[in-house]
Amino acid sequence: MAYDPNNVFARILRGEIPNRTVYEDDFVLAFEDINPQAPVHVLVIPKGAYTDLADFSARATAEELTGFFRAVAAVARQLDLVEPGFRALCNTGADAHQEVPHFHLHLFAGKPLGPMLAR
Ligand code: AMP
Repeated sequence: MAYDPNNVFARILRGEIPNRTVYEDDFVLAFEDINPQAPVHVLVIPKGAYTDLADFSARATAEELTGFFRAVAAVARQLDLVEPGFRALCNTGADAHQEVPHFHLHLFAGKPLGPMLAR
């Protein structure tokens, strides 16, 4: 899938759409999900143009990969999520119902999160 530079997260990165930022560094922006599915629901997105996890993990530089996952850990620490825990989830493609075609990682926390998948 070709990267769509007008997807909503690309527009957030360009400052065209507001967001509630919780963390930012050279590699990522992390912001509150507009339709939270848990008491804490934050999206972590790379600043580079990647469509999904498969694209990011295949094409990102080692620096981008390291920067992204270090930032996920930094967000978890900043929001005090490491204890009692959190869930990280990356929807990829149609079967996973990925809606926004810019790679993102959901961070859920703030209550016991129940089973991993709806049945
Ligand atoms: P996914 O289904 O994994 O692609 O998730 C996309 C997520 O982006 C959903 O949880 C949406 O609620 C969230 N979302 C869509 N637009 C915005 C926005 N403008 N600001 C924050 N979150 C958004």
